[in-house]
Amino acid sequence: MNEHLFKILVIGDGEVGKSSFLHRYVNGQFNKTYKMTMGVDYSLKLLYWSDKEKVRLHLWDIAGTKHFSVDRWMAGRHNERCVFPTGQERFISMNRIYYKGALGCVVMFDVTNPTSFRSCRHWKQDLDNKAMLPNGDSIPCILLANKCDLAQRAVTTDSIKRFSEANGFVTWMEISVKENMNVGEAMRRLVQEIMSV
Ligand code: GDP
Repeated sequence: MNEHLFKILVIGDGEVGKSSFLHRYVNGQFNKTYKMTMGVDYSLKLLYWSDKEKVRLHLWDIAGTKHFSVDRWMAGRHNERCVFPTGQERFISMNRIYYKGALGCVVMFDVTNPTSFRSCRHWKQDLDNKAMLPNGDSIPCILLANKCDLAQRAVTTDSIKRFSEANGFVTWMEISVKENMNVGEAMRRLVQEIMSV
């Protein structure tokens, strides 16, 4: 049996549901109080892709994507979550080391939070600037619109579609980690894309 190892990143603003997404995908659970500390968190998932192929996914929940204040970080209170004061830069550029060797990426936002949607442009640009496949192409990336179970939706399907097409995403999907809607499907779509590169 052929075995593949794929490093996959999950990036996006803080609180959009990245950790919950991986927890759901890997452990099959949604836990409202499930919280990550600052730092890179890794999980592994083994997929029997076909009777000839086995895929090990090395999933990286990227550090530094929570909104935290640098002052608090410096003071060692880095496990606290807080939002930057209005007007300050919210986007945190990631160190190249996080992107190294990645073969696929999920960029996630929260449909009830338009700012997290706008940030996806930066996340995708940062990814394309710092990560590429050995042949120089940009790595396959999918756009996930999370929290579709919530009524107070603020980003339309049409704008997600247009944004995805204009910014080089392989595809986009509306998901709910809470309702377990499209979580496995999204990852299957990404793995399929990586396999076909
Ligand atoms: P991260 O900072 O991007 O890793 O976000 P978390 O995974 O910590 O999630 C932030 C908050 O959103 C938590 O309170 C989660 O319970 C909640 N959350 C995550 N996914 C969903 C979802 O699909 N629907 C709803 N309603 N809440 C969600």
